[in-house]
Amino acid sequence: MSKTGIEVQKEKDFSTWYQQVLTRSDMLEYYDISGCYVIRPLAYNIWQEIEKFFDAEIKKLGVEDAYFPMFVSQRVLEKEKAHIEGFAPEVAWVTKAGSSNLEEPIAIRPTSETVMYPYFAKWIRSHRDLPLKLNQWCNVVRWEFKNPRKYLYIVLEIAFCGCAPFLRTREFLWQEGHTAHLTKEEADVEVRQILELYRQVYEDLLAVPVIKGVKSEKEKFAGGLYTTTIEGFIPTTGRGIQAATSHCLGQNFSKMFDIVIEDPSVTDGTAKKINVWQNSWGLTTRTIGVMVMTHGDNRGLVLPPRVANLQVVVIPCGLTAKSKEQDRKKVEDKIQEVLTELKAVGIKVKADLRDNYTPAYKFNHWELRGTPVRLEIGPRDVSSNQVMGIRRDTFEKKPIPLSELTTRVPELLDTIQREMFERAKKTYDEHVKIVLKWDDFVPMLDAKNFVLIPWCETGQCEDQIKENSARKATQDEAEDERAPSMGAKSLCIPFDQPKNPPIVAGETKCVACGNDAKRYCLFGRSY
Ligand code: AMP
Repeated sequence: MSKTGIEVQKEKDFSTWYQQVLTRSDMLEYYDISGCYVIRPLAYNIWQEIEKFFDAEIKKLGVEDAYFPMFVSQRVLEKEKAHIEGFAPEVAWVTKAGSSNLEEPIAIRPTSETVMYPYFAKWIRSHRDLPLKLNQWCNVVRWEFKNPRKYLYIVLEIAFCGCAPFLRTREFLWQEGHTAHLTKEEADVEVRQILELYRQVYEDLLAVPVIKGVKSEKEKFAGGLYTTTIEGFIPTTGRGIQAATSHCLGQNFSKMFDIVIEDPSVTDGTAKKINVWQNSWGLTTRTIGVMVMTHGDNRGLVLPPRVANLQVVVIPCGLTAKSKEQDRKKVEDKIQEVLTELKAVGIKVKADLRDNYTPAYKFNHWELRGTPVRLEIGPRDVSSNQVMGIRRDTFEKKPIPLSELTTRVPELLDTIQREMFERAKKTYDEHVKIVLKWDDFVPMLDAKNFVLIPWCETGQCEDQIKENSARKATQDEAEDERAPSMGAKSLCIPFDQPKNPPIVAGETKCVACGNDAKRYCLFGRSY
């Protein structure tokens, strides 16, 4: 096959497959700084669709957009101790301007809590200024540097910086929401509202299933009170991926940054200062990578119709050099009609009328780029008043009467969207295994599953699980995956807890350490 197609199988060589799908579909280009990538229009458009949806939803919640600088001084960055301890290893610093050293190095934001909160302190003067709800769409930099194995450098940019396009990059695009509330209850409600919107981005837009839950103490956001998360699953590798997180920061940051108001419940003039409750929440371009990994196949990208910038491509077929001018004209006129009709009902459609390529070449071209539906029109179709419709996700082929085009095509796109999600959800569900004894834990992981276990929720037990579930990398994996021998991490304590068997307080034991179990927790190897 030429370099315009996918040359490896998804199941056999996943990381090469992923790279080829991204670069050959024109989604992404590699860059000469490790961990940084060029996002091309096909991929950037997906990000814009996500932005459009999410932006409209948070506006309904009263969130406003703002923009804060990307630079942060060392003094401010280090104000919240636990926070900076969590982020310090990944912070990139500007130390020079031209050839002279800066008097004080300046950090590039890895996230903007410390950038924004001095201003929250200034702007929040009384309970009347609450809630304050700001969001910004921007880039952040986290200088990931995992498992440096230089001898593998040429094969493995992935191992070298711990990065993979979209999933883990050194610079990434995101939205970060930062809000301040009068009460914890109010903050709690918002944390869940945002998490639900993140679920909708993944499940309803990208057709990617996720599991909602809360992070363990060890895995929560540095400096926060608690972290809620949606967790994704990549079936081909059996690995988890933290899809998005919504944090309640509690009063930790408001104490450090002195974001206080007078207690409005005391009105006799003796009111004390109270700290506001804060949340922060973020969704990144990681979304795009998870979507590609979930739906892509051996012919390339498969795009869910809701985020495809081109939903339908029309390709003239059955015309040869010898075709009569009359036939050619008939087909071309019909294509124009089809385009007009479909555009009128809001379908993103175009025709590939390039005369220097064969239909077969064009089929491959649009399959590689994931276009959800292909319509083929030839002289015979024109005579019988129909077009041939082909689904990208299943390759199912069906004639569509021209008279029904404007109802059947939107229906077909809805069906594709729904079935892509249903298939992915079924696969995810099949790979979540309830495990009730430790002996089954590692074999289940090795069979590319997540495991759900009754768990004691202690950090010590979590460390032990990680250590005990690490295994030796196979030859293939050593070349293919980052840290393949990694142990399992706690991914989340799902909100939706298994009912069978139920956890009985004082009776059910932790599968890993034998102490009392509190709730079921989802464990897995993860990106
Ligand atoms: P955080 O502010 O650390 O909670 O990050 C918010 C979200 O960003 C996480 O839930 C991840 O889904 C995503 N994320 C974290 N690190 C990266 C990265 N290096 N590249 C892309 N996305 C990331």
